[in-house]
Amino acid sequence: MKVGIDIGASTIKIGSLNLKTKAGHFKKLGQYFILTGIPTDDDFRKTGQSVARLIKEIFGQPEKVVVGCFGPLELKKKKILKAPNRSSWSGADFHLWEDYLGAEILLENDANLAIYGEAKVGAGKGFGIVSGFTLGSGIGYGLIINGHIYHGNWDVEAGHMILDPQGPLCGCGQRGCLEAYISAKAIKQRFGQEPAQLENEKAWDWIASKIAQGIQIITTVTKPDLFVLTGGIARRKGLLQKVQKHYQTLLRIYPKEATKTKIALGKYIEHAGVIGAIELPF
Ligand SMILES: [Zn+2]
Repeated sequence: MKVGIDIGASTIKIGSLNLKTKAGHFKKLGQYFILTGIPTDDDFRKTGQSVARLIKEIFGQPEKVVVGCFGPLELKKKKILKAPNRSSWSGADFHLWEDYLGAEILLENDANLAIYGEAKVGAGKGFGIVSGFTLGSGIGYGLIINGHIYHGNWDVEAGHMILDPQGPLCGCGQRGCLEAYISAKAIKQRFGQEPAQLENEKAWDWIASKIAQGIQIITTVTKPDLFVLTGGIARRKGLLQKVQKHYQTLLRIYPKEATKTKIALGKYIEHAGVIGAIELPF
């Protein structure tokens, strides 16, 4: 039995195709059973123990567990290299969680899993090359080539592409990163409201223009068949249309509409990461 875990800076989602008891407050999305809202505690050990207990109670003893986590990560060593939004987890080693779970863990970048989930069973199903952003507290990026996650020789971090070297300071230390403009925190700093409360259409048009700039750059470098937007911010009504409008204006190198990359909203949005973790072969 396989379990997928998606670790966010504040909450964790756990999912599987199997269920041991119907007593838990799980969500049913298609064939997936998903537990949401499990708090990410500052204490890495304590969080691992709670997660392991919940999995054994609700889903049963797992054989394999795929974990998606914020990074940057050292995937092969199953370690978090640096955790800017949860600093006490910097250097955390998931071998410890393997002991709690009694199962082997495959560690993967959370954004890679979200875009993998969308590529395999969501909005990108049937497309060969699928790229995408996860729009949330950070800006994650994933590239799936014919069913395989592209890793580069280290973590791919397109959320930190520099749009303007004189731009706002990013949590990563660079200036003018895409994330420094459109992460939930950056939006709040600039417009004075959380993205969920922000009703200023001009502000959303500006946010869409930055997202489109990011997609234009990625299109010229990787030319995916589909670019998918996931993460809570992607749910904003009308955002996709605004992004498409700016993208059409920015991208001129491909002459015909048909030759441009399609942009779509994810099917599973904030659940894409945990579904990707369930679906990733391991
Ligand atoms: Zn950055």
